[in-house]
Amino acid sequence: MPVAASSVIRAGSEILQAAGIEGREAEILFLCTFAASRASLYRDNPEIAESDRSRFLDRVKRRAAREPMNYITGDVEFLGLRLSVGSGVLIPRPETEWWLDALIKRLRGNAFKPRSVLDLCAGSGCIGLALAREFPGAEVVAVDISPDALLYARENAAINGVANISFVEGDLFGPLPPDSSFDLIVSNPPYIAVSELKKLEPEVRLWEPHVALAGGDDGLDFYRAIFADIRRFVSDDAVVAVETGSGQGASVREMMAVAGFGNAKIFYDYAGHDRAVFGSIKEI
Ligand code: GLN
Repeated sequence: MPVAASSVIRAGSEILQAAGIEGREAEILFLCTFAASRASLYRDNPEIAESDRSRFLDRVKRRAAREPMNYITGDVEFLGLRLSVGSGVLIPRPETEWWLDALIKRLRGNAFKPRSVLDLCAGSGCIGLALAREFPGAEVVAVDISPDALLYARENAAINGVANISFVEGDLFGPLPPDSSFDLIVSNPPYIAVSELKKLEPEVRLWEPHVALAGGDDGLDFYRAIFADIRRFVSDDAVVAVETGSGQGASVREMMAVAGFGNAKIFYDYAGHDRAVFGSIKEI
């Protein structure tokens, strides 16, 4: 028997609350599941068929098991791109959007225009794709060690019609031809200290790939590896930008400066946390 949408949402909301999750997420799940608008929901309070009701409640139960909302809906917005995500790939974070947007705005007002861009630990492809779209004259290479993540990244290039990007499976600079040279290198590497992993929210700890999160004993392993080799892969006017965890900015700035990016600077986010480090070989 069909049931009114409002009572289906109420049932979902109770299941979520019992699992310690905010009940209003049930409404969000309902709206994405049926591609409905909030206005039409409240105006019409439509009757929901039994099959649709159980489809919705299956999704509610996945969320009650702490599966991230974006894995259930299957997508996420990132700087105006719609990206497909799911089990096996890190969900792009608003913090990443924030520093990348700041970097893009800084580069827009500048004579420096990247022609070759390297995105290390590319995951869903969010950073590389946003840069490929911003700089259509550039060729972007996105590297990731995870074949699962690369499936999403390639799909995301196709969904968004981005053609000036290619994807390579491997460990950091490892798979690149030795004579490769880039003028913009970006990375959001795994940076969580191993001891911190167990303190992460269940959505992250239980569902997202640890290979995208774990950065060794102090979380800095990937920066050490990146800055040990980076000079072999950059042009002499290269720019570099990496995301960091809160409290890691000073160490990463030091590594970046030692690698030859003299004016490395920490970028602080709206909450005052160090969130990224930007540097360049020449002043830009
Ligand atoms: N910002 C992510 C988190 O806190 C971590 C991403 C990363 O390790 N690069 O879950």
